[in-house]
Amino acid sequence: MTAADETLTRPGRLTGRPGTLLPGRHPATLARAVLVAFVLINVVVVEALFVTSDVASKHVLIDVGKFFGLHVALVMIFQLLLVARLPWLDRRIGMDRLTAWHRWVGFTLLWTLILHVTFIVLGYARRYATPVPRQVVSLAGSFPVLLGMAALAVIVVVAGLSVRYARRRLQYETWHALHLALYLAVTLALVHQMFEVSTFTSSALATAYWWSLWAFAGLALLGGRVVLPLWRNARHRLRVAAVVPESDTVVSVHLRGRHLDRMPARAGQFFVWRFLSAGRWWQANPFSLSAAPDGRSLRLTAKAVGSGSAGLRHVPVGTRVFAEGPYGAFTALQRVTDATLLIAGGVGVTPIRALLEELDGSVVVLYRVPTRADAVLLAELEALARMRGARLHVLTGRTGAGSPPNTPFAPENLHALVPDITGRDVYVCGPPAMTDAVLRSLRALRVPRRQVHAERFSLAG
Ligand SMILES: Cc1cc2nc3c(=O)[nH]c(=O)nc-3n(C[C@H](O)[C@H](O)[C@H](O)COP(=O)(O)OP(=O)(O)OC[C@H]3O[C@@H](n4cnc5c(N)ncnc54)[C@H](O)[C@@H]3O)c2cc1C
Repeated sequence: MTAADETLTRPGRLTGRPGTLLPGRHPATLARAVLVAFVLINVVVVEALFVTSDVASKHVLIDVGKFFGLHVALVMIFQLLLVARLPWLDRRIGMDRLTAWHRWVGFTLLWTLILHVTFIVLGYARRYATPVPRQVVSLAGSFPVLLGMAALAVIVVVAGLSVRYARRRLQYETWHALHLALYLAVTLALVHQMFEVSTFTSSALATAYWWSLWAFAGLALLGGRVVLPLWRNARHRLRVAAVVPESDTVVSVHLRGRHLDRMPARAGQFFVWRFLSAGRWWQANPFSLSAAPDGRSLRLTAKAVGSGSAGLRHVPVGTRVFAEGPYGAFTALQRVTDATLLIAGGVGVTPIRALLEELDGSVVVLYRVPTRADAVLLAELEALARMRGARLHVLTGRTGAGSPPNTPFAPENLHALVPDITGRDVYVCGPPAMTDAVLRSLRALRVPRRQVHAERFSLAG
């Protein structure tokens, strides 16, 4: 952790007054500004290279097509950065938000590509006065163009499968494996760009620029997705130390490893865990830390949802674990006041429990469960709340039931429970319907947006 991070983590010590706005820029603002600057600067460079190069064919449709083609390359490079899982970006923006941007940038890529192809085909068809289908066949006769067409086909198929309707019908692992085909599409597109008439080869400066940009994106991806996880796992050598049932459906897995005091994990973050035992090494699932990392051990707590989470109960002690992470911006780094409201629903208590351990200043915890018997980790929360002088409310019942209806997160009820809510950072993690209800109420109560932090337990959109 850097000195700057440390200052932001311990804001209570800076001001000492609950609800006081902390000085300094919000970490997500800086990271967003860096990304926007990266895009804008490169758009300007790409367009300047295009205008000053001699790639123009003097045929307007073809030139517009080439112009879009260069932007396709730029969008692809930006996509690679968004999925590179660079710790600096991830800690500030969060993987959920980066993944949501990746999704929208993906559709932007598709449409830019369609415009590129449409203008090129129409342009050449018009220039040589050939029907469009014959022109397509003629263009495919050039090997670099054929590679570009193959990239287009892969991108169209993956984009089709990423539309929510199709995505929901595919198993996560299937969708993810198909998504990996996009790396092939990127490679094909790079070769296409190198050998087609583009600004890639229009001057030594342009060639150096494009190679630097592609190399930067490639190295970021390789570093974030391959080298860093391999290095961290070789260093920490995680193993299952204990498997502790918390209820009939929830289990905690304790892990030990080497040099865990050097692992830059924080309360509220998650890892993508792969347990290397027979029959399940191929499955990787994201789970939050359910205790703040103490430098000696890590713990996750998982509810049985499908085969991956249900099987955790049977993972043998001693099993080697490959963990990618830590990821996520649901941490104290995002805090802008020195008073906090933590809201958990069901198994969403896991990162909330870890955050309660780490946060100082005034803390209120709301824990929503059907009955107290369903409240996993409750004894730990109560002990921590006592130790930290935090206020803990367990909110039981079925939403909407009874008279008046049980709606603890309706704006007036939330305000009654936490009257100084607008002066607090609010962290919420629970089932989607509950999280949405809380976020709606926070908007109604005019809690500033930058004080609101949500972990949705979902990445794939
Ligand atoms: C950031 C994050 C933190 C989470 N923390 C916790 C936690 O602390 N405790 C807890 O009980 N649950 C947590 N979850 C939810 C947990 O990951 C899923 O319940 C679990 O992966 C389900 O896997 P399964 O094989 O049992 O079920 P499946 O039926 O195979 O999967 C159910 C759904 O889980 C999601 N999923 C599965 N694998 C992955 C993956 N590798 N990456 C992204 N999504 C995946 C998919 O949406 C999938 O459709 C978290 C999820 C996320 C994204």
